[in-house]
Amino acid sequence: MKNITKITILLLTALFSGAVFTQDFPPLEFRRLSDRALLMIGGRESNNVVALSTERGIVVIDSGESPVMGRAIRSTAERELGRKDFAFLINTHDDWDHVQGNQVFADVPIIGHDQCAARMMILAAALEEAKSRKAPPARPRTEAAVVAKAGKLPPPPPVGPIAIDIKSLSITPPDVTFRDRMRLDLGDLRAQLYYFGRAHSRSDVLILIPEEKLLLVGDLFYKNSLPVFAGRGGFETERWLEVIDEVLKPEHGVEIIISGHGPPLDRAEFTARCEYVRELVSGIAADVSKGLTLEKVQERFDLERRFPELAPLDQKGSRGGSLHRGNVEAFWSFFKKR
Ligand SMILES: [Zn+2]
Repeated sequence: MKNITKITILLLTALFSGAVFTQDFPPLEFRRLSDRALLMIGGRESNNVVALSTERGIVVIDSGESPVMGRAIRSTAERELGRKDFAFLINTHDDWDHVQGNQVFADVPIIGHDQCAARMMILAAALEEAKSRKAPPARPRTEAAVVAKAGKLPPPPPVGPIAIDIKSLSITPPDVTFRDRMRLDLGDLRAQLYYFGRAHSRSDVLILIPEEKLLLVGDLFYKNSLPVFAGRGGFETERWLEVIDEVLKPEHGVEIIISGHGPPLDRAEFTARCEYVRELVSGIAADVSKGLTLEKVQERFDLERRFPELAPLDQKGSRGGSLHRGNVEAFWSFFKKR
């Protein structure tokens, strides 16, 4: 069902061709994380994109919202890193704003989770079919509008699609995929990729670069928002906790955490968000096994009391709802059905 919704959203939007994105892309903001690591920021959703200069070539993580943004990423990385040899593109997950520039990197291996490739292949086929049709739909819709219609709180940073010229888009799925973990030898650097398990999307990958003390977390964790997994369903909670334990091992020395959007997190901020997830998962599982009602569990997991330092990150809805309460409800329903 979600698949179909996503395809519809993409196609309706893609068919509504936007003049803005046929022009040159505005220059990306960028800053150095180190001699070898460049952080670029751009696009309607302020996507963070990282490029690493390694002995095997440049490795880019995520390709942005559109082919024009992908080209801006490629040329900025070439200019700032002083080389043109690309080794890999890695996708953190399959959301449109992270993968629609992939076609610009079609000359190098593109790495992603199995599900990232599978879902993008479905979209690619649907897009090609839409290109062969003539009549455009009346109006574009956004993901936010769909969510609002369903009476739910809109999610934080991840967002609705942009207007994009359908003719310029060629959905390009990863051609190197993995199921659990993958290790990339980049000469002077290693990249360790971990499938997080179904959470924000079905294809979320964490990318750890120990030599740079760097961890990329896609849209799973943010500096300015709580993690939000509500409304996504089919959680893989054991795997989440396993992966969190792994990436936080002291020997990896992670210090800089880059989200898909927004400012980087430091280790303490990331750890606090991981602990929030851990406490919700294990605490609510135990409460459900004791037969506690949702109301009782909401009370026991009151954000201000349980996680005071995270309380400012919650977004509240009009009728007593909030991102946090949505999380509690989602976990309660998940464990109840299990
Ligand atoms: Zn995103």
